Amino acid sequence: MSNSFQAPKGTYDILPADSARVLAVREAIAAPLRRAGYGYIETPVFEDVKLFSRGVGESTDIVSKEMFTLTTIGGDELALRPEGTASVLRAALEANLHRIGNLPVKLWYSGSQYRYEKPQKGRYRQFWQVGAEAIGAEDPFLDAELIILAADAYRSLGLRNFRILLNSLGDKQCRPVYRAALQEFLRGLDLDADTVRRAEINPLRVLDDKRPDVRKQLVGAPALVDFLCEECKAYHEQVREILTAADVAFEDDPNLVRGLDYYTRTTFEFVHDGLGSQSAVGGGGRYDGLSEMIGGPALPSVGWALGVDRTVLALEAEGIELPNPAASDVFAVPLGEEARRVLFGAVTALRREGLSADLVYGGKGLKAAMKAADRSGARFAVVAGDRDLADGLVQLKDLTTGEQTPVALDALVSTLKEKLK
Ligand code: AMP
Repeated sequence: MSNSFQAPKGTYDILPADSARVLAVREAIAAPLRRAGYGYIETPVFEDVKLFSRGVGESTDIVSKEMFTLTTIGGDELALRPEGTASVLRAALEANLHRIGNLPVKLWYSGSQYRYEKPQKGRYRQFWQVGAEAIGAEDPFLDAELIILAADAYRSLGLRNFRILLNSLGDKQCRPVYRAALQEFLRGLDLDADTVRRAEINPLRVLDDKRPDVRKQLVGAPALVDFLCEECKAYHEQVREILTAADVAFEDDPNLVRGLDYYTRTTFEFVHDGLGSQSAVGGGGRYDGLSEMIGGPALPSVGWALGVDRTVLALEAEGIELPNPAASDVFAVPLGEEARRVLFGAVTALRREGLSADLVYGGKGLKAAMKAADRSGARFAVVAGDRDLADGLVQLKDLTTGEQTPVALDALVSTLKEKLK
């Protein structure tokens, strides 16, 4: 038996320097949300399993096949959250946020999600999302706001090859009529037993089937656009107009249904063309019925979740390098015990002044220490032996040019601050 351990299947460790990219992606998605009045929320990583079976839907793959469930010693049935919307809405209802403040209640979150999926590149069992929810308002400007904020986040990261797919799923007036018509059509096809079952429980999801033999048969299926009621049509048209006015390009995709049951009206997905089969980097939509499904009042709402893991992969696919904030500005190389004490003090002072500074540890010799300085990515090395220090000096070496100049120890902080400005 091996003595070593590995990360569980479908999970991975996020290590430097990749972790800097992950933090930068989270921040880039969060920044536009903060500017638009969304407040940060954290919810538990596990919830009552019924929150998801009722909220996300029994017939979805997420609930029927992919949930990590557990029974506590006390007998509670819990599930690791497979997505964020149901939890955020549960928390908002529990705290009465919809009664206390303005509607919509605007919230954003950042956290890990868990789905028991077959792992492959871009698809993991633990992955990260940054999400946003606007709870308690039916307003096409709000749907458009969220889509614009996501598009702005991707743009701010420098991503160019993403597309926005847009659809309307209708509401409780028109969707059932369409559902029945689609079901009728699907009953006439030659489908496997699983798909026949799906057609009975949730026929819209069959439209999402990617298998060529199913796709072929779906040609000529009734389209939801032809069934939308006047209100849904007008609402959708407004969302489209607002996006166009904001210079956000989108593609109408009548087959976009998404894997969660709670969506109504506006539905959208962000896809990146450099990611192969797992091309969705984010998605969302309106979920006007979800609050009632989980025991709350009628609260029409809209939201999205963007995948952090896949956004990082999209950056890689486009060859976009983000600045690495982990690299130190300054790396100190003391030669001797007294120098160590003094340079440790200097490093502490530099850090307190807001510069990033590091020191060689572990009693390395000069050669190994200079190698460590080079590897650290720092702009400057501060080198000092006991003799320099006796004269009140340190040597400041510019690691890009190799140029070395003596600097008075008591002027070190101000000199570096000036040079790094
Ligand atoms: P969903 O909650 O299914 O609408 O997914 C929203 C976004 O989360 C997707 O567009 C992906 O970027 C990301 N995502 C969903 N499932 C996974 C997964 N298993 N692994 C990595 N990212 C995922």
